[in-house]
Order: sequence, then C-alpha cells, then structure tokens
Amino acid sequence: MQPPATQPVINLVVTDLDNTLWDWFGAWYSSFSALLNEVSRLSGVPTPALEEEARKVHQRRRTTEYSYLLNEIPSLLALSKNPLMTYDKALHAQNSARKESTRLYPGVLTTLETIRAAGVPIVGYTESLSFWTEWRIRTLELDGVLAALYSSPDHDLPDGVSFEDLRTQDPEHYGLKLTPHEHVAAGTEKPSVAILNEIIQTFGARPATTLYIGDSLIKDVAMAQAAGAHDAHAAYGQVQHLPEYALLRRVTHWTDELVEKERRATERAGVVTPTHVLDRGLDQLLTMFAFEGAADDTAP
Ligand SMILES: [Mg+2]
Repeated sequence: MQPPATQPVINLVVTDLDNTLWDWFGAWYSSFSALLNEVSRLSGVPTPALEEEARKVHQRRRTTEYSYLLNEIPSLLALSKNPLMTYDKALHAQNSARKESTRLYPGVLTTLETIRAAGVPIVGYTESLSFWTEWRIRTLELDGVLAALYSSPDHDLPDGVSFEDLRTQDPEHYGLKLTPHEHVAAGTEKPSVAILNEIIQTFGARPATTLYIGDSLIKDVAMAQAAGAHDAHAAYGQVQHLPEYALLRRVTHWTDELVEKERRATERAGVVTPTHVLDRGLDQLLTMFAFEGAADDTAP
C-alpha cells in the first residue's frame, strides 16, 4: 500500500504503554477494588478509611501498585502483625482480577507488527514501575515486539526485604528475554523531554521523523510537542470521565496539584491540542503516517 505523499514519514515510534497499548486502568480498577473490598470484609475496617491510608502509602512509595501496601496500613497493623499473611485471600482476589482484566486494546498487536515489518523500531516509554510493567509485557506477549523499554526503577521495599525475597518462582519467570530494559532516573517524569530526546538519539533518529503516541494530553502529547516529534493522542484510552476513575483519584500517589491539573485539562479541551487523534484504535496510525525503516540502519 503506497500512502499519499502528504503523510509524514516515520522511522522511529515511541509509545506510552498504560492506556495506550493496554487497558491499565481497567485492570488496576478491578484488581484494586477486589483487594479493597475483600480486606474490608475480612478486617471490618470500612473502605473509606482503607483508601485514605492507602493514599499515604502510595505517595510515600510513589506508585499505586505497591506489593507491600497492606503491611503499611496502620488500621490493619492494629489488627495483625502481618496483614499480608492475614489477608492473603484478598491478595488472591487482587491477582486473579488483574490476570483476568489485563489485555491489549483491539488491533494493537497487528498494528505494532505492521510497523515493525516496515523496519521501524517501536520503543516503549512508561512512568510505571519496572516489576509490573515487565509482567504486563510478558503476559501480553510483547517481549521482543518492543525494540526497547524505558521505565521507572522499582519502588522502595521495606527494610530488610529484597526483590529476590518477593520472587516466589524460578528466575526465568521474571524479567524480559528479548526487549532490553532501561531504567530512567527516579523522578524523571513526563512531560520532561529528556528521556524522549535520549531515545531519539540512541536510535539515530530525528524528532521530525519520530512519532510519539500516548493517552495523556498533559504528559504524553505535551512532551511529544515540546520535543518536536509527531504526536498522536490515544483518545480511546482516556478514562478520566469514567465514574470508576474517582477511586484512582482517592488513592493515587499523584499530588493534589497534578490531579487537579489533569481534571482541568480533561474538562477544558484545548489546553493541549493533539495534532493527530486516535479516537477508535491504534490501527488508525496506519492511514495517518508512512512508516519507513531508516535507510541507514544504525539503530541498535
Ligand atoms: Mg498512559
């Protein structure tokens, strides 16, 4: 298929992951509410109290996916020395909900494969932490589809606990086999252009022939535009208008200021105006851009 000459030529794709390739929020919501409801039922602590205490832990640990959460909630510690063990049933409920609801958006895999087949590398860049990002990439069979992954390092662990202690299965069940994984310095956050510029440089590309895709206007689209790359807004992944999103706002590690900024950007269209809008799915990219592998193949 020969695209019309007006389509921008792209030889590097950098993409956000959560709510761009897969429904992170849907999976987070169903797994976190399963945990919360089950812990509340078993302990008798009302969910609003658990949510308030969870937010404090999430802010301290800079993530809403903290595996040790229960052991740092004061009202649970008042009832048990080891809440993770006492409320093990709740963790099982959380895990099975997560497994069941983690899935790619329709058309994502074939779109990524089409872009790769054109010789264009696809790099993932997420603010999510390492452990769960690798789990999602493995679970969704994207290991090797991505030419590289850039993510935040993992959250801190309680004193005296190492990541090896957390890993209950053989080492081959963890990590990625094919996609190289780079950790960005803790605290480097979108829309800072530092990492995007680094990726463009590493792959020997230029902003003018780089496409960046993401669902967040204030983080993804703003960053792509500041770097001078082409931006595509994964509008199909936006969830801020859903009633369920209120739970994430109540327990997020984001500051009140950032939550408010996002709310304002969601309510008032035009704060950040995307150049290309994907309102139905990722496959719309294939008619918007001409994907061409770089003639000079210096990419790693
Ligand atoms: Mg996202």
